[in-house]
Amino acid sequence: MTYMINKIEANASNSIQTITKTDAINLKTKITEQKAILQSVTNQIIKDNDINEEKIFDMYERSDITSNFIRMGIMYENGYTKTNDGYEVDYSEEKDNFFSNDKIQISENRKSKINGEEINIYSKAVDINKEKIAILLIVSTESYKDIFSNKIFEGEGFSYVINKQGNIVVNGNEKIDASSIIDNMESRNSGVKIVKIENRKYYMAYQDIGINNWHIISFIPSKTIAGEINKALFITFILVIIVILVILTICSYIVITNMKKRKKYSADEKEIEKNMKKALKNNEFIIYYQPKIYAKTEEIYGVEALVRWKRKDKIIMPSKFIPIFESNKFILKLDLYIFEQVCKDMKEWKGKHNFDLIVSVNVSREHFTEENFLAKYVEIASKYGIDTNKIDLEITESATINSKINITKIMGEIKKAGFLISIDDFGTGYSSLNILHDMPIDILKIDKSFVDQIGREDSIIENILNIAKKFNLKTIAEGVETKKQKDYLENNGCNIIQGYYYSKPIQKNELEEFILKKTIK
Ligand code: C2E
Ligand code: CA
Ligand code: CA
Repeated sequence: MTYMINKIEANASNSIQTITKTDAINLKTKITEQKAILQSVTNQIIKDNDINEEKIFDMYERSDITSNFIRMGIMYENGYTKTNDGYEVDYSEEKDNFFSNDKIQISENRKSKINGEEINIYSKAVDINKEKIAILLIVSTESYKDIFSNKIFEGEGFSYVINKQGNIVVNGNEKIDASSIIDNMESRNSGVKIVKIENRKYYMAYQDIGINNWHIISFIPSKTIAGEINKALFITFILVIIVILVILTICSYIVITNMKKRKKYSADEKEIEKNMKKALKNNEFIIYYQPKIYAKTEEIYGVEALVRWKRKDKIIMPSKFIPIFESNKFILKLDLYIFEQVCKDMKEWKGKHNFDLIVSVNVSREHFTEENFLAKYVEIASKYGIDTNKIDLEITESATINSKINITKIMGEIKKAGFLISIDDFGTGYSSLNILHDMPIDILKIDKSFVDQIGREDSIIENILNIAKKFNLKTIAEGVETKKQKDYLENNGCNIIQGYYYSKPIQKNELEEFILKKTIK
């Protein structure tokens, strides 16, 4: 708003300055024109060797210049003056002013000796027949009013022409008596000032016209500008109301749609919460394993355990229930349950097939705020005789960004317990690179969203792979679906591939077949 007010004030200041300058130019042009007329009249007079008073008046009256002046006068050296319309006037007291030089002069405004009207006199002294006379052309001061831009600030403003003594030469369209200001004016530089007249504030601009030290001086009452500002304030006020209404409408729309969604979500949530504990008891949570394959050799590196909820012969995907379990903390139980199943499976594989795989399990961020969470993992692993360095704990990058926990300490403890650590969904969490530097990480799992960009925007994945190389970390690309993606990743130094290209997550028995097939090859 201050910006707007400043702009209005600056505009007002600019306009009054422009108006004043324009008036000054108009006045100067008009005076120059009138001087030029007198010059041409005197030129003709000088040229004529046989010139006399009668001929001069005759010449004036027959020309079309009469429209510019009220009369012509011929002043004789003693100041005695005759006019074309038959008046005789005595200027003897000030005659010297008219004969002082040969230049064309214009007088200050004065009262006509003939009828008291306000006039200005153009004069030029000439020699005719060895006699000195002065030719006078008289204008009505009133006629200069035409030069004022007639509507300054919708008629609220007014202007004067003043002379160097501060007297008013032409009174434009006076609204108030500004003579106090005009008299007090110290400097006559052009510019805009704020002045007070009769307790009211005005913007004032003045401009030298370059003749007779005359100035144009213009005023606009600041209340006119205040009016403009009020108008702008009012418009802004209306705009603000409109914006608020629009925002309110958008907000209520968002709130209503969210409430609708929430209702639906909370119905699902209630159903899930109601059944989760029973489901755990009834072994409804089952594990799918997705193989992770070395890009170069296509040998199997390990598998990731991914949970599914098998409910009345329907498979519910983790995206449906994990977020709910994270908010009600049931994830703490579920993760440990899955971990225990994984350890059981690993024990069985060792005994039955002598598989020596690295198995990854997802560890929710919710564990990190639990005291001693790691002890439970260690305890379960040892219960089944599983070497912790065969178990990889997948921790999402976003879980590492939590100011309430000391993630470096937690990671250190996990590492000390012998587990491998993967950073899951790497590249989506906006963590600082410090985590790679400060934490004992083994593997970076590049998020599927970057793999999807291969062929379109390769630079990100290239950078991630370079960073991993710098920090000596293994890299796994997730969600690899095509040969093109696999080849690109292999050529750019990605170590391990996980994705539908090799296998979807599969059940335990299918995995055993998958591994056996690979080893037989
Ligand atoms: P995640 O850990 O990032 O797992 C990778 C997800 O990508 C899995 O989804 C997997 O099925 C899917 N995926 C793998 N390869 C491809 C592919 O080539 N194309 C496509 N389109 N998808 C692929 P899923 O199994 O639905 O798991 C979703 C998320 O649920 C997991 O993301 C993980 O954050 C979470 N989750 C799964 N199991 C557990 C668990 O036991 N505990 C915890 N805390 N979270 C789990
Ligand atoms: Ca994972
Ligand atoms: Ca992931």
